[in-house]
This record gives sequence, structure tokens and C-alpha cells, in this order.
Amino acid sequence: MYILTIILLVILIIIGLAYYFTVWSKTQIFGYFPYSIKTDKKIIALTFDDGPNPPYTNELLTILARHNVKATFFLTGKRLSKFPELGQALVKAGHIIGNHSYSHKFTKNFTSLSFETEITRAQKVIEEITGKRPALYRSPWLFRQPWLLRNLRAHGLTPVAGFFSSSWEAWHAAPKIIATDAFKTIAPGRIIIFHDGADINLFSWDNYRAGSVGAIDLIIPELKKQGYEFLTVDQLLGVAAYQTI
Ligand SMILES: [Zn+2]
Repeated sequence: MYILTIILLVILIIIGLAYYFTVWSKTQIFGYFPYSIKTDKKIIALTFDDGPNPPYTNELLTILARHNVKATFFLTGKRLSKFPELGQALVKAGHIIGNHSYSHKFTKNFTSLSFETEITRAQKVIEEITGKRPALYRSPWLFRQPWLLRNLRAHGLTPVAGFFSSSWEAWHAAPKIIATDAFKTIAPGRIIIFHDGADINLFSWDNYRAGSVGAIDLIIPELKKQGYEFLTVDQLLGVAAYQTI
């Protein structure tokens, strides 16, 4: 019994350390992986992951245009090939597009430490469809390790983390619940993560993002009232959004 408890404790500690080093937003131990900048200015960057995903990406386009806000969308290559016109619409509207891997499959991290195919395949699709070669990359689950970070540098990509807006997003909660929770996370200089798509499509409702979209429509006017300004990730971090082709 005693031995079993020790083994269990060791396993838990290993899982905890693995989480801390490779997934937690703030970990910088393997290299630069920015999630915010130090500032007193009321500026933030809104980001959206896992799209494009109609009709939610379309609705976000309308909402962001109505509020005159530019955001950063981390797209997967696979979904962009399915909905190319949405990627083009994002660029046309002045939003920034970043690379969020090709397939978003976590298991691919274990078959290729450099994540080479996932990175380059997505870069190729994004460039072919939008005419832009991204300089920003966000890992699925914010997963990082030295081999991946080295490979991103080799491809001219800046890794981007951020703060998850609300865990209620995963449960497809109502806009008000997600918005109220997100306000606890929003602070000057932060990159905030929302989702217009879904990383896992186990159930038919995984792609349902009405809650997140509705939350954005509540959050922006309130933040504007508080004096906030909205920057894209490249503007906030002072880095390039795209590479020259
Ligand atoms: Zn994702």
C-alpha cells in the first residue's frame, strides 16, 4: 500500500511538472512564449483559435467590424482549406492571421518533436489561400518544448501564448457567463484567447460557438467604456505579423 501511494504521488508530480513546463500560459523555461506585455496602458489583444468555422467566424467578422476592432485569428490549415473564403475575408477585413498547426492533433507532438509537417503544411495552405506567410504561431493547447521552439525560429515564426478567456467556453456556456468570467482575466497588456472553432470534434456540438461570439459582443463595448484599446498580437508585442514572400 505504502509503495503504491509513493508511485501514485510520483506520477502526479511528473504530470504536474509536465503541465507546468509545457502547457501553462506563463511558463518561459524553454524560451520566449509571450502571453502579455508589461504596461499600465489599457490595451489588449483579442485572439480566436481553431477556425475558420462558419457561421461563427462570419458573425465575428460582423461584430468586430461594427465595433471597429481588429483581432488575431490562429487558423488551422485543415479548416482553412475547407473554408478558404473565410480566411480571405479575415485578411480583407484587416484582421491578422496566425498559424495554429495543420491538423491540431496533439498526438502528432509525439511522432514529431519538431512538429515540422504540422507547421509547414499550415504555412503553405495559409500562404496559398490568403497570400500571407504568417510570422505568428500558436501551438495547439499552448504546448511547447525546446525542439518545437527551435523549429519555429527556423521558420521565422514567433510563438504566441495568451490567457484563456474562460473555461466556460469549453462548455459552450451562454454569452453572459463567458463574458463575466473573461472580465476576471482581462487586464492591461494581456493576450486573451477565445475560440471560434473547436480543437476536438468528438460531438456534433463541439463546433457550436454562439456563446463565445455573443460574449465578444458584450465584452467589447464594456471594455471600450473602461477606456480599453484593442491591438492585434503583432502590434501588442511589437513583432512582425507576416514574413516577406
Ligand atoms: Zn486550438
